[in-house]
Amino acid sequence: MKYLVANWKMNKTDQEVRDFFAVSREALRLAKGVEIVFCPPFPLIPTVRSEVVGTPLKVGAQDLSSEEDGARTGDVSGKQIEGMADYVIVGHSERKKLFHETSQEIAAKLVQARRHDLTPILCFETPEELKVVNDPTHLLLAYEPTFAIGSGHPDTPANAAAVAKSAREILGHTVPVLYGGSVTADNVKEFLSQPEIDGALVGSASLDPAGWVGLVHAAST
Ligand code: PEP
Repeated sequence: MKYLVANWKMNKTDQEVRDFFAVSREALRLAKGVEIVFCPPFPLIPTVRSEVVGTPLKVGAQDLSSEEDGARTGDVSGKQIEGMADYVIVGHSERKKLFHETSQEIAAKLVQARRHDLTPILCFETPEELKVVNDPTHLLLAYEPTFAIGSGHPDTPANAAAVAKSAREILGHTVPVLYGGSVTADNVKEFLSQPEIDGALVGSASLDPAGWVGLVHAAST
C-alpha cells in the first residue's frame, strides 16, 4: 500500500472544504491500494472529519505543540488533536524556516504525537535530521528536498529512492518513506514505481479536487 498525503497548508475555508469533497469524495472513496490522508489547517479538521466519515479517507494535522499544555498562545497540543486525526506532520521545512523550529522541538513533538496516538509524518532533507528519531516504530518519513517544494522542479525518482533507502539504513528499521516536492498527477507514478518510495506528500497539487483525483488515480492504477 502507498500513502498519499495532502498538505493543504494555510489554504481553504470551511465552504471550500465542503465543495472539495462534494465533487471528489466518491472517486476518492473507491481508490485502491492507497491510504489517502488530508492535512487541513486546524480549524478545518472537524469539517474534513465530517466529510470523510464512513469512507477509508484519513485525517492528519499539519503540526502540534512540543508541549503537553500551558501558556503557549496560538499553539495546539497533541492532547487537543487526539481523537480528531490519525496522523500529524512534524518538522516541515516551512516551520523550520519561518518559525525557527529546532531539532529539540521536533524531537519533543514526536514524543507528543506518540503520547496522543497520532502517527507522525516526519519531514527531513538530510540524514542528520533523522537524529531526532528515538523510536522508529509507528512513524512515516517524508523526504522533502527544499529546492523541490513548490518550485515545479522535483528531485529525480532515482535520487529520492536512494535517500529513502539510506534513511532506512540509518534508522535500522523498515519505516515507510514518502517523497515530497512538486509531485503532480503527471509524475507521481514515476516516484511510486520505485520500490523504496512508499508514497507522496503533496502540497500544491492536492488543492484542486479534479487535480487531486487525477493524482490519486495515477497513483492507484
Ligand atoms: C510540501 O510543502 O510538503 C510540498 C510537497 O509542496 P509541493 O507539493 O507544493 O511542492
